[in-house]
Amino acid sequence: MNTTATRTPAPAAAEGTHDVITVSGLHKHFTSPTGDVLPVLQDIELTLREGEIVALLGKSGSGKSTLLRHIAGLLAPSSGTVRYRGAPVNGPNPGTAMLFQSFALMPWLTVQQNVELGLQAKGVLPYTRRRQALEAIDTVGLDGFENAYPKELSGGMRQRVGFARALVVEPDVLLMDEPFSALDVLTAQTLRNELLELLARPQSPTRTALLVTHSIEEAVQLADRILILGSDPGTIAAELRVDLPRPRNRRTPGFEALIEDAYECLTGERSDTPAPLGTHDPLGAAAPLPQANVEQLTGLLEELDGQDGAMALPALADALSYEVDDLMPLVEAAQLLAYARIDTGELRLTATGRGFANADILTRKHLFAAAVLANVPLIATIRTLLMASDGGRLREHHVTDRLLAGSSEQASRQQLALAITWGRYAELFEYDARDRVLLLPHEDHVAGGAR
Ligand code: ADP
Ligand code: MG
Repeated sequence: MNTTATRTPAPAAAEGTHDVITVSGLHKHFTSPTGDVLPVLQDIELTLREGEIVALLGKSGSGKSTLLRHIAGLLAPSSGTVRYRGAPVNGPNPGTAMLFQSFALMPWLTVQQNVELGLQAKGVLPYTRRRQALEAIDTVGLDGFENAYPKELSGGMRQRVGFARALVVEPDVLLMDEPFSALDVLTAQTLRNELLELLARPQSPTRTALLVTHSIEEAVQLADRILILGSDPGTIAAELRVDLPRPRNRRTPGFEALIEDAYECLTGERSDTPAPLGTHDPLGAAAPLPQANVEQLTGLLEELDGQDGAMALPALADALSYEVDDLMPLVEAAQLLAYARIDTGELRLTATGRGFANADILTRKHLFAAAVLANVPLIATIRTLLMASDGGRLREHHVTDRLLAGSSEQASRQQLALAITWGRYAELFEYDARDRVLLLPHEDHVAGGAR
């Protein structure tokens, strides 16, 4: 199908001749200052065909930006190749331009000067540069703002400058790294539609795009094909075709079913049992805690319980007035704690989850503590170390250095903060922010000391 009024996808025939980007056998690992090797991408095979919009969907930290940078030629693979129209990419990829979430505009340059930057880098002469920049500014609807500075513009207008700057160099392939994430919902929606329009212009030299996103809805709305990047290390875990007519929204037949499919692919890997407590397994990296707040998780379980224990994810999102994507960490947490599982597109309470939803406040804390100790190695290990320690104290850096080694600094700080919140709620430990130590709760300490 895929018959849109405005876009025609690449012909499926003549396989190979229309491949714009080919990634084969790509592996990437980073090495930390302490010499630890962090594998990030593994066995990546990916082809972008002329005229397609492909979304690369994955959780935060799965390696999406890293893969995009390889395609842009800004990072070199540890092994494997990236090709642009058959030619190996060994430096900045001449066929691509990049659009970032953060807009990345130069604050001291005007809109026009910002747009001209890319052309300048290509050695285009000033007169031509000016003319092409003005045209691009016009195309993205910023006529009249040529001489404005970025700080005078709203977020949406800044990202339009980002579009103009990327499109003015007439790239064969537009690479986008979460370009709508920093915008409010309505602005993001407007710019998504404008992006499709820009790529569909009959005279557009840019017709192929790779969009990195963590938003399932965005992927289903924009892409011809969705590649799902699994984590640790990142591999392409699944591919979904989106053969829906455009323009698409939630009411487009088939839209919600695709959201459910993508959801299942993304969360499916969670059904694995938590990683074992090997000494070489950095715990946070092996089973990262989802960014879920316990009150919200409780609300979700109560809602499910009120609906006979099972609901399709889009319906659940509606009932809770959440965006489907914002529900994700809660769904992950529910699965991690064995409170619910995904079953043919529905989130279904388990017996444990039902027990939790129906318990009183105090009982919930005990049940939560048991679930966390059984399913979250990071918290279970912190608790064990605290019980074994002199005085029931554990320095924060002990956790980040040893248990979370191998995660980036930001990731490890985030994991520690989550572990503290969950651990506190479960009354498994307390935290002293001034001294940066984790502590056993008083009663446990007394019990522990009397052993
Ligand atoms: P995503 O874009 O999917 O959120 P990234 O590609 O930014 O993920 O990062 C994937 C993983 O690689 C993360 O664990 C991140 O900490 C790590 N990483 C990314 N860049 C570097 C780097 N330059 N050095 C070390 N680790 C990195
Ligand atoms: Mg990223």
